[in-house]
Amino acid sequence: MTIRPILIHPDPRLKKVTAPVASIDDDLRRLADDMLETMYEAPGIGLAAPQVAVMRRVIVMDCQKDAEATPEPMVLINPEIIWSSEATSVYDEGCLSIPEQYAEVTRPAEVEVAWLGLDGKPQRARFDGLWATCVQHEIDHLDGKLFIDCLGPLKRQMITRKMQKLKREMARG
Ligand SMILES: [Zn+2]
Repeated sequence: MTIRPILIHPDPRLKKVTAPVASIDDDLRRLADDMLETMYEAPGIGLAAPQVAVMRRVIVMDCQKDAEATPEPMVLINPEIIWSSEATSVYDEGCLSIPEQYAEVTRPAEVEVAWLGLDGKPQRARFDGLWATCVQHEIDHLDGKLFIDCLGPLKRQMITRKMQKLKREMARG
């Protein structure tokens, strides 16, 4: 397993709609392993393939935040939201591609998602709580959407300027 570099906003690859996975092969299994490793190392609770510059519809998540509990890694291939609750919830979201910036985002409190597992079998589940927020945030990445796109233009520009500054600093080393 390899830790892959995470793209930092603004980056044109984070704004693109990604392509569905056509076949689950060794490359894809390696990508899923690397994404989980990269997410745990960050640390984060979710990661989408475009964040590691792979323009395919793959996300990984583990919202089990209790350090004592058994990890619950999930790999979702071609995930699709097939139902959303009318009830909403607000969560102070962050993103590994927008480090150290957080903002409240309102989303449906519960969603039902269909996807393919690594074994190629169709799966379906309902998510609530932090899992619901996370799965919606990650699926947005597959459509080139970031959580700051849910905010007003001023807040979004402020965060984007901070990220441009951070990237200049990183480039200087
Ligand atoms: Zn994110």
